[in-house]
Amino acid sequence: PLPPIYAITPTYSRPVQKAELTRLANTFRQVARLHWVLVEDAARRSELVSRFVARAGLPCTHLHIPTPRRYKRPGLPRATEQRNAGLAWLRQRHQHLPPPQPGVLFFADDDNTYSLELFEEMRTTRKVSVWPVGLVGGRWYERPVVENGKVVGWYTGWRADRPFAIDMAGFAVSLQVILSNPKAVFKRRGSQPGMQESDFLKQITTVEELEPKANNCTKVLVWHTRTEKVNLGNEPKYHLDTVKIEV
Ligand code: UDP
Ligand code: MN
Repeated sequence: PLPPIYAITPTYSRPVQKAELTRLANTFRQVARLHWVLVEDAARRSELVSRFVARAGLPCTHLHIPTPRRYKRPGLPRATEQRNAGLAWLRQRHQHLPPPQPGVLFFADDDNTYSLELFEEMRTTRKVSVWPVGLVGGRWYERPVVENGKVVGWYTGWRADRPFAIDMAGFAVSLQVILSNPKAVFKRRGSQPGMQESDFLKQITTVEELEPKANNCTKVLVWHTRTEKVNLGNEPKYHLDTVKIEV
């Protein structure tokens, strides 16, 4: 059987949330053996996401953990606690099972755009695999630079000093690596903007060890799209609609 893919998605309440989750579910539903780990940035599971998960049509685990207020500031990394909650769930679920435990972990933000081919590529991850990400870092794409099948550097326009100059959407990790590095987590302390990926990856791998995917990192199969903030400027203060509709 195919190794399962665990997609960890942090998500938070906002006008476009259900639309984003719908787009994601429509993609993920087409991927074999994909298990969706949705982690709400909230003190409790919301009704909207609970209802959504029940009808999503694919295996889902619905977690929640709120980001402490002091970390909800522009310039600070987002979704640290949520990704760690997903990692903790994954480790707990497998801790009493004997190896080898096939599986691949991928951090799937709720606003990106994922091709189906991306999942075929990451499925064969042995330790940590990498690939280009489109529309990120102020460029058309960022990508690992590959020579003779090995990653030797990074094509990026932003903070080229990063040890792993890669977006969250640009790598996958085998379950085995997650389980054999039980302390690897995303850190709040000392983590500067854009360093989350590097801080995490340096706990579990080296640049030499990375497995290039997507034809030696020459194809864009995922896009760091961002959804425009919705204009609700015409919402009525009075004369509300006669029915209450979830959007
Ligand atoms: N996110 C979250 N809480 C927040 C802000 C963001 O859980 O307060 C989630 C969001 O839903 C997404 C991920 O964290 O899945 C990354 O956030 P965003 O897409 O805003 O970051 P960017 O695209 O700017 O890297
Ligand atoms: Mn995003």
